[in-house]
Amino acid sequence: MLDCLTPLTESQRAIRDLARDFARRELAPHAAAWDRAAQADPAIRAKLGELGFLGMTLPEEYGGQGLDMLSLLLAIEEIARADASTAILLSVHNSLPTRMILKFGSDAQKAEYLPRMASGELLGAFALSEPDAGSDASAVATQAVRSGDHWILNGTKAWVSNGNVADVILTLARTDAPDARRGSRGISAFVVTPDLPGFSVGKKEDKMGMRASPTVQLRFDDLRVPSGRLLGAEGDGFHYAMQSLESGRLGIAAQSVGIAHAALDHATAYARERRQFGKPLIEFQSMEFKLADMATRVHSARAILHATAGAIDRGEPVGAHAAMCKLVASEAAMWVTTQAIQVFGGYGYVTDYPVERLFRDAKVTEIYEGTSEIQRIVIGRAVAAG
Ligand SMILES: Cc1cc2nc3c(=O)[nH]c(=O)nc-3n(C[C@H](O)[C@H](O)[C@H](O)COP(=O)(O)OP(=O)(O)OC[C@H]3O[C@@H](n4cnc5c(N)ncnc54)[C@H](O)[C@@H]3O)c2cc1C
Repeated sequence: MLDCLTPLTESQRAIRDLARDFARRELAPHAAAWDRAAQADPAIRAKLGELGFLGMTLPEEYGGQGLDMLSLLLAIEEIARADASTAILLSVHNSLPTRMILKFGSDAQKAEYLPRMASGELLGAFALSEPDAGSDASAVATQAVRSGDHWILNGTKAWVSNGNVADVILTLARTDAPDARRGSRGISAFVVTPDLPGFSVGKKEDKMGMRASPTVQLRFDDLRVPSGRLLGAEGDGFHYAMQSLESGRLGIAAQSVGIAHAALDHATAYARERRQFGKPLIEFQSMEFKLADMATRVHSARAILHATAGAIDRGEPVGAHAAMCKLVASEAAMWVTTQAIQVFGGYGYVTDYPVERLFRDAKVTEIYEGTSEIQRIVIGRAVAAG
């Protein structure tokens, strides 16, 4: 009933089914254990690479699948239904570092990184946030200073998803002088790799949810980055990042729809099976209404997401719709997972059942890649501009 109404092509259906099958076999049985251990099986990354999930929208000339945005989002959604932590790896890798190198990198950078990123040999991460630069991302303080044929970077990056296991870290740093700041125009993008002298991994966050996805600080102490690692033009990095975050936000929206759909599935199955007052919970009309409201939110979020992906795939500008997708889907995920716990009653509150994990995983979708407040600012500005 709740399968998407979007008319999918044969190829899109095949990708969705491949992701669904992989997620059911390889992720769902282990997601609870990985959450408890705060560690996923490292072998999953290679399997994602083998199946082509790490180069989905990259052109075939770089070893990618050459697929459209909707295919990527269908895969992220299916993976998130089983394990949201694996979905964030997929979303960040495909939406940010690979996409930024493809769009803004030199031919040499594309040839050096993209084929190995598509195969899963190299995993990508994105380092924009800092301890004092979150929603106001243009406040980044990590400083890059040119020195001969290198840039020397000093600073701390915060909240880097997969930062401790990534091989290619798309990093934003200031290239304007401290006494001549140029705001967001003073920020450049660099391809940082962990083998560079001066690179170290700092604190690993002990998180509420998404626990199998490592989130770390990165420290750069006189990090020596060869000048050929500057991405695109000096001073344009922030602009590149903001453009790429548009697809990143769609990835988070897809992850949110997947989490919400999983919560709906679990709640429906439980309401059929659990009996009180002599009949299954699902036979109480208030329970049926609750499931109806949950299903409606899942379906509405998916509908705006697929419509926006379709516009991107037709090459049309989507403006504030990407922010709307993330806002609607992440708030749906939070609401639906909260209702799922209610359907389970006390059993929803303990770790024997998966809905408390889904609830914890859902929360961060309202925070990362721009909080709900920031999405409202983006949407509000578009409304005001008419
Ligand atoms: C698990 C996790 C993974 C992450 N992964 C990455 C990653 O891979 N790479 C990366 O670069 N970053 C990553 N982040 C960082 C994430 O993008 C930031 O946490 C987010 O942008 C919010 O920044 P902040 O935490 O500093 O909160 P703040 O910006 O300090 O915001 C605190 C509160 O104030 C509100 N607020 C701020 N400004 C305004 C305003 N103008 N109007 C109204 N309200 C406002 C916010 O909405 C929020 O509610 C990750 C974060 C988490 C938690």
